[in-house]
Amino acid sequence: MFFSFDGIDGVGKTTQMQLFCHWLAEEWQGGGREVVTCRDPGSTPLGERVREILLTSDESTPIAARSEMLLYMAARAQLVEQVIRPALAAGKVVVSDRYLLANVVYQGYAGGLEVSAVRDVGRVATKGLSPDCTFLLDMSPAAALERMGEQLDRVESRGDEYRELLRQGFLQEAALLGDKVHVIAADRSIDEIQNELRDIAKSQVSN
Ligand code: ADP
Repeated sequence: MFFSFDGIDGVGKTTQMQLFCHWLAEEWQGGGREVVTCRDPGSTPLGERVREILLTSDESTPIAARSEMLLYMAARAQLVEQVIRPALAAGKVVVSDRYLLANVVYQGYAGGLEVSAVRDVGRVATKGLSPDCTFLLDMSPAAALERMGEQLDRVESRGDEYRELLRQGFLQEAALLGDKVHVIAADRSIDEIQNELRDIAKSQVSN
C-alpha cells in the first residue's frame, strides 16, 4: 500500500504524517507492518542533492521552469527505483511526503508549464507508479502561512497570489484524479484530522 501527503506548505503534512506512520506501524491491521517513509524530492543520495539545489538556489544559479520540473522528476525517478518499488515489492507500506501531484501543481498549474506535459513526464519518471491513497490537506493559504512563521523556503516565499494558485491547482487536479485523492479540511485540530485519515485508511483496506 502506497500513501502520499500533499498540499501547500504549512497545512500540517509533517505533523499528520508522523502520527499516521506511527499508527500504521503500531495499530493498523493489528500492527507489525513495516512502514517506509520518504520525502519527494529526497530520500536517496541523488534525491537529497537535487533537493538541496531545488530548495536553496538563488540568483547565482538560475533554474528555468522546465529544468526545475525535470530536476524534480529525476529525483522522483530515483526515489521510485531505489526506495518505493523495492519496499512495495517486499510487502511494506510506503508513505511519501509529497509526490507527482505536487510537481503537476507547482510547475504546471502555478508554474506556467503545460499541465498535461508535466503529467506525461511524470508517467515516464515513475513508470506509472502512483499512490493508492493521497491525502490532500487543504486550508486557506493565509492561515497556513500564519502557521509557518518565518520558515518559508525559496519556493513558497513568492506571495499570497501564488499560494492561492497552488491551492486551486491542487483542488482541480484532485478532482480529476478521482477517489484516490482525499481532500482533507486541514483547518481543524490535529486529532480531528488524524482521525479522519485513519478512518480513510481503514476503509481502503476493507474495500
Ligand atoms: P507542513 O509539513 O505541511 O509544512 P507542518 O506539519 O510542518 O506543515 O505544520 C506547520 C506548523 O503548523 C507547525 O508549527 C505545526 O506544529 C503546526 N500545525 C500543524 N497542524 C496543526 C493544526 N491542526 N492546528 C494548528 N497548528 C498545526
